[in-house]
Amino acid sequence: MRKPGIDPNNVQMTDVLCDFCHRQWTDDEPMIEGHHGSCLCGECLTVAYTEVILNARSTAPAEYKCPMCLEEAGDREALERAGEGGWQSPLHDDAVICKRCIELAARSLDKDRAWEWAAPRKGSPREI
Ligand SMILES: [Zn+2]
Ligand SMILES: [Zn+2]
Repeated sequence: MRKPGIDPNNVQMTDVLCDFCHRQWTDDEPMIEGHHGSCLCGECLTVAYTEVILNARSTAPAEYKCPMCLEEAGDREALERAGEGGWQSPLHDDAVICKRCIELAARSLDKDRAWEWAAPRKGSPREI
């Protein structure tokens, strides 16, 4: 997400916030961009990945719209992904990411050599 009230023609790094914890984008935190300027930081991705992928525990409500891919419950149903898990931010409960976006984000960040982010394994800490 973008900080409210910023100049859309001159977006600075610090104007970009993680949709899930509202932290600012900095040089030492990777950010994955979704649709419409939505963003997910590496810390939130670690927590989401641990919960939803490793622990197979969805924290998403039944009805939600993922800000990263903009899909809603009806879209997921149409794509035969109804009931698929997701992760609801413990800090901002309107921010829920779908499982597929978690997987895609983890795959691309894992490959990205600019960051040391690696997908968590069983037994890693999972606090924000
Ligand atoms: Zn975050
Ligand atoms: Zn999604």
